[in-house]
Amino acid sequence: MNKPKMAAEKSASRVLMLLSQLERLNEEPRVSDNEAIRQITGKILHLIQTQEKTRKEVVSKGSGGMEIILSSLENTHDLQTTLNILAILNELLTVGGGRRTGVFVSKGGTAILLQLLVSSSKDSPANEELMLHIHSLLVKVGPKDKKFGVKARLNGALNVTLNLVKHNLQNYKLLLPCLQVLRVYSSNLVNAVSLGKSGALESMFEIIGPFSKKSTTLLKVALDTLAALLKSGMNARRAVDRGYLPTLLAIYQDWHRNDTRHRHVVIRKSILGCIKNLTNIKLGRKAFIDANGMRILYNTSTECLPVRTLDPLVNTSSLIMRKCFPKNRLPLPTIKSVFHHPLPHIPAGGPVAQLYNQPPGVDDVVDESDENEATEVDTENDTEYDEDETGHKTQNDDIETDINKLRPIQMNIRPFDELRVYEYFCREFSENFEDDDFESPTSVIPPSGINSELHRPIIIPTTPTSLEPQNRRPLREDVLPPKSDSESPLELDSISISKRPEGKSDPDLVCSLGRLVLDGGMNGGSVDGPQEEGGEQAVLEVPDTAALLPLHDPDLYLEMVKSTRSVPAYTEVAYPDYFGHVALNLREPILERVYGVQRTKIFQDIERLIHPSDILDKVVYDLDIQSCPVIENGESLKFNSKFESGNLRKAIQVRKFEYDLILNSDINSNHYHQWFYFEVGNMRPGVRYRFNIINCEKSNSQFNYGMQVLMYSVQDAINGNPHWVRTGSDICYYKNHFSRSSIAAGGQKGKSYFTLTFTVTFQHKDDVCYFAYHYPYTYSMLKMHLQKLSALRTAQIYYRQDDLCETLGGNSCPLLTITAMPESSRDDHISQFKSRPVVFLSARVHPGETNSSWVMKGSLEFLMSSSPQAQSLREGYIFKIIPMLNPDGVINGNHRCSLSGEDLNRQWQSPNAELHPTIYQAKSLLQYLRATGRTPLVFCDYHGHSRKKNVFMYGCSIKETVWQTSVNTSTCDLHEDLGYRTLPKLLSQMAPAFSLSSCSFVVERSKEATARVVVWREIGVQRSYTMESTLCGCDQGKYKGLQIGTSELEEMGAQFCLALLRLRRFTTPLELHNHNSHLDMDNDLIETRNIPNITSPTTYVLEEDEPAFLEEVDYSAESNDENDPDLEPDLQDNHALPDPHSDAEFRRQGSLN
Ligand SMILES: [Zn+2]
Repeated sequence: MNKPKMAAEKSASRVLMLLSQLERLNEEPRVSDNEAIRQITGKILHLIQTQEKTRKEVVSKGSGGMEIILSSLENTHDLQTTLNILAILNELLTVGGGRRTGVFVSKGGTAILLQLLVSSSKDSPANEELMLHIHSLLVKVGPKDKKFGVKARLNGALNVTLNLVKHNLQNYKLLLPCLQVLRVYSSNLVNAVSLGKSGALESMFEIIGPFSKKSTTLLKVALDTLAALLKSGMNARRAVDRGYLPTLLAIYQDWHRNDTRHRHVVIRKSILGCIKNLTNIKLGRKAFIDANGMRILYNTSTECLPVRTLDPLVNTSSLIMRKCFPKNRLPLPTIKSVFHHPLPHIPAGGPVAQLYNQPPGVDDVVDESDENEATEVDTENDTEYDEDETGHKTQNDDIETDINKLRPIQMNIRPFDELRVYEYFCREFSENFEDDDFESPTSVIPPSGINSELHRPIIIPTTPTSLEPQNRRPLREDVLPPKSDSESPLELDSISISKRPEGKSDPDLVCSLGRLVLDGGMNGGSVDGPQEEGGEQAVLEVPDTAALLPLHDPDLYLEMVKSTRSVPAYTEVAYPDYFGHVALNLREPILERVYGVQRTKIFQDIERLIHPSDILDKVVYDLDIQSCPVIENGESLKFNSKFESGNLRKAIQVRKFEYDLILNSDINSNHYHQWFYFEVGNMRPGVRYRFNIINCEKSNSQFNYGMQVLMYSVQDAINGNPHWVRTGSDICYYKNHFSRSSIAAGGQKGKSYFTLTFTVTFQHKDDVCYFAYHYPYTYSMLKMHLQKLSALRTAQIYYRQDDLCETLGGNSCPLLTITAMPESSRDDHISQFKSRPVVFLSARVHPGETNSSWVMKGSLEFLMSSSPQAQSLREGYIFKIIPMLNPDGVINGNHRCSLSGEDLNRQWQSPNAELHPTIYQAKSLLQYLRATGRTPLVFCDYHGHSRKKNVFMYGCSIKETVWQTSVNTSTCDLHEDLGYRTLPKLLSQMAPAFSLSSCSFVVERSKEATARVVVWREIGVQRSYTMESTLCGCDQGKYKGLQIGTSELEEMGAQFCLALLRLRRFTTPLELHNHNSHLDMDNDLIETRNIPNITSPTTYVLEEDEPAFLEEVDYSAESNDENDPDLEPDLQDNHALPDPHSDAEFRRQGSLN
């Protein structure tokens, strides 16, 4: 029974014996041993061919087998021995996968093989069997050896292989392994350039040819080699010069025609791969267009569409077509904002100075530079391109590594005398609450209409009426800067625009609600106008939102609008803002991404180029021209957005039911388009309308991950459903063929725009519908809500509203103080009142993030509510709240900036009192609080996030920042209180939309001038946060799979308050003295996990957190479709904490005593 095992052992020991014989002979090489070595290697080969065990024996650890074999190969000059050894190696490396090859590589096998190749190539003619063996081995070794490309080049092997290819074009047996090796060589760019110079491209074109069922493997390898060679710009240019692009297109068509049973999709895909790389260069794209490539790929793709297995061909074709689609400028006279607002001064070198100093016609320069060329290694002298290194470049280089920039700033920048004026905003600390005036303070709310010069007629818009050309036009003439057709640069100091209309509007148009009539007919209907013939008229009744919306009142809203100053001097009010929005009582699920939508949309775009005669190109709305066209033929939709927060600039009817829409850029800027809010009328019910917003700027959007746009139907509102609802199908977001020049983009490269496309079917005839990026929340709405909230004040509530300052646009920035009235005027009650810690909240510094206002509304409503918890909260803290840090941006429909053309959340380090008044005053107030020993316990700025789901927070931690960097900083001396983690942790337990795993406490360089970082470093607020709410929805918790609505956002605001209430328990010094047990509670609260893994790139903010989809989201036409780094999977939370016992949470009270 033991016999077979014995035999195996014997043979195994036999091979080891042979190896040791070989080893001895290697050590003392004599010519006379040649025969012996030949025999031994022959025996080893025989054993290996017959016994798998023997193979294992040879490569087993400690056997030294591989070394001995390689050493023999290196020393021998005997052909038969060499062939024996190569055969042994081929046997060994064929089985056993990568591990054996790894051993081979680690023992220096690659170099020995390459040297053998080069030296044997000098024999003439080269031994074919030898060459076959060497190349078969190189094919196996190459992909496993990271330095293979370099080694091959340094050993001079590139041309040896290439020459073999050239001389053996008919010898398929030798040609195949040589081509395979050539393909591996070519994946190194420097090699590709070198091979290209030696004629590799021409050789490949001798192999690839029209459809043939013969030697398809060879053809595939040749195509892949060609594709690799064409990654070099130099080779691509050579190929274009030789006219290879039309050749490739012809070959592709030939395969497309003949491969009717789709047996050779891989070959067809490889041909496209070559075309794709060729069109990376400008010359290649031109050649593609000249060769009618668009039509060829369009037609072949259309024929491929019905067959799902041909998807890779359609996708690659679409990528190529998008890349080659001629870049266009937007159809606008200039991309600068239509509206201009004169600034008190314009800092030289600032964005506004740059904008208006741009040379004329700068917008016309369309940048078609080769995006891939900048990074290309095209010369021998360049540093080595190493495939495995490119994968590690994702290390976030934005993380702050300068430890001094992470430490608190100690200096008191401003003398206290300068700050003393801010005492006015903190009057509660000095009030005595004498019995006779023991009541809540009166707020500084300007009675409506106090600025009588602001009184102007307010129009509730319907679809544009026949009256409107007269009524609306004066507005525009007054507001627009004089248009000079020559586009001469504007003199900065001469720009002065009257902001106020001259009140020319027909007084009859001042509507009272009872008389308001909704447009009945297509063209007719007017406010209080005569009945249009043919149109059925609906008397407008205000939907009864009052009962459902305690803070809403249409009359009050109109009152508020009157004192809101917009740069275009809007006189219209959007219905949704006027009626109000009642949160939908319905779950709105995040949309499943439908396969193929993006592709279909892109093909429709490409059709514009292929069939230009099908395109209408009719401008139906245009803020840039004096007489905005009024379309009366009933064939086009009517657009309008001349109301608060509206920002549509132009609408072009492209096809019968398709419109391109262009958004206005932020005022005094030429970009920042993402937010939108506009009105549509004159629609036909039951028809699918496609809308394309063609000048979006972000590189990706939640619209690719299930988010829908918001729509408000006035008919529905009148019928008792005054809701913003998520709507639209076939939604996707992708890079389009419009771009702006590098100069206009202010950078080295031009920027492409992105299209958001969605399709809507309207339900009602004669409706007026509104579309928005997210639930609108205007400044006038804020003022209305504040007035309603102040009315909720009771004897227990201390509520005060001050004007923090006036904005550039002449609007006031409200500052609220909310707390509980002291229980009585007794000393201990007054002292309790004055010892309450301050919580400082702000929102809406970014106008496009309307969700932050809804969260703020939730917080404010909770704070003013009569619940016992709200009362406890008021008794526990003094709240200082700036609900809207950027009123001008909100009013004027900006997405990101204030009227200074700057992102206000990048101005906190040194805000300018004139240009950034709200930030300057808010920061000064914080400085005052710090100087008077009332540094806030919590600071939180509410934001919205366009690319992530859920609600989450960013905070600041030195330690967590340092851990994320590979900088070798000794962290031992860093003592850090972990209290910054408590509030997010509480929120994750309490608020269903909140996700702790999305939180980050890493300080990034690009964020050093944001509120969160500056308040942390300069004011010394340890719990300084940005709270980000998704625009889309949640992927965890109770709302998993649902899009977010206003009630969830408001709930988030309320939960934030409740979390503060619980935080209070951990921060009260009185309880600290009595209960040591709190320490344990806090430990529970702050989960302790392992010591952080320093190399893991976890907590910093990932640009994207969406998983890859079945259909690749190639929103970037230029991206490599095989490996899109933007589609990183969501990384799991890896927050880990160091020693929790170092927590100084309870010592944080210092500033209050
Ligand atoms: Zn923001």
